Amino acid sequence: MTDATSAAIRSVCLFCGSSDAARPEYLEAARAFGQALAEAGLRLVYGGGGVGLMGAAARAAHGAGGEVLGVMPQFLRSRERLFDEVETRVVTSMHERKQMMYDECDAFVVLPGGVGTLEEAIEVLSWKRLDLHPKPVIFINLDGFWENFYALMRHSVEEGMTPAAFLEAYDSVDDVAGALAVLSGARAVPNRYDQR
Ligand code: AMP
Repeated sequence: MTDATSAAIRSVCLFCGSSDAARPEYLEAARAFGQALAEAGLRLVYGGGGVGLMGAAARAAHGAGGEVLGVMPQFLRSRERLFDEVETRVVTSMHERKQMMYDECDAFVVLPGGVGTLEEAIEVLSWKRLDLHPKPVIFINLDGFWENFYALMRHSVEEGMTPAAFLEAYDSVDDVAGALAVLSGARAVPNRYDQR
């Protein structure tokens, strides 16, 4: 496991939608995020696809001269149109993909997406819940996209399922610029979350 507590953020894992039917504003934000990462000298680690927000972010980062690592399960190569102009690692399973993306990054950023994005984001949050890692998880809450998720997390706290402190386990920013501000200023701090 990478010790991100002592190092500045250098690689950022992006979770985001694979849908080409997403609103143009979301695709544009993904593009802006990829470009901003490249300009900040940060490496993009992502799922390797050329579709949807994933493809928009990767093409923009690559186009702006940034370093990109895509991690793609073999069986999704054609379905998610592997973007092979960047470094790509082809793995055998979804679990292997997520483990590699986790191992290769110092922080996670979550843009709007579907059930796949949700699953990936919740997995790294669930690992935080178990104190398995200190890496920041930053949701970009474009047009309030993640409000319903935040409401569900608050509900879980109110119902006694999740400690209130867990609401501090993730950051929420309004836009790409906000995410870059956190990433450039942030050091991964030890998880303040207390399970008791
Ligand atoms: P979506 O948000 O549904 O468009 O999916 C975004 C990305 O998440 C796609 O590249 C999916 O292949 C990926 N994804 C979906 N489920 C999983 C999973 N269980 N493990 C790893 N990646 C996943």
